[in-house]
Amino acid sequence: MSGSPAPGATGEQMTIGVLALQGDFEAHGRVLTRLGAAVRQVRVPGDLDDLDGLVIPGGESTTMTLGIEREGLGEPLRAFHAAGKPIFGTCAGLIMCDREHLGLIDIRAERNAFGRQVRSFEAQVDIGLPGGPIEALFIRAPWIAEHGPEVEILAEVDGHAVAAREGSVLVVSFHPELGSDDRVHELFLRIVGDARLAAA
Ligand code: GLN
Repeated sequence: MSGSPAPGATGEQMTIGVLALQGDFEAHGRVLTRLGAAVRQVRVPGDLDDLDGLVIPGGESTTMTLGIEREGLGEPLRAFHAAGKPIFGTCAGLIMCDREHLGLIDIRAERNAFGRQVRSFEAQVDIGLPGGPIEALFIRAPWIAEHGPEVEILAEVDGHAVAAREGSVLVVSFHPELGSDDRVHELFLRIVGDARLAAA
């Protein structure tokens, strides 16, 4: 509901960045606004200043990798994470967070893992949220092929991990920004609120 405080809010409004080089950043912005956060599109390193958390959206991971290199965002993004600021990667954003890309979570993503024929599908995914499973939309989605011991796998589809968390980093291989179920973003804002309290 618009106007309601963001979950975990400490009184002050949270400001959440959405990496806006390419992909599905506008839809994320709409959900975060709906949940009461202030939203800033991130295109250059200075846009990360004073953010409480960051969403890395779905899109195309090769294009996003090139954009991050072009804008010199790799090191600033790693520093943002090292400072304890929460990061939420969805679909291509999950790929960007893995060991072989930004190295923000100890997973290896397998791109387009559900096969070329199965480009897009919906599945019930239970990541342990109140209210039960979410109807998740997968679009040429990756899965998590390997993960380290500190990574908590939150959900699987057909035996393949599709959602995970390690500390302040949350990743899902589907598109929680499409549709009207805002619970995964609510979870992320709770992680952001907790990180803010811990840093206060
Ligand atoms: N298949 C895309 C990639 O590998 C990800 C798809 C998506 O973000 N919807 O980058």
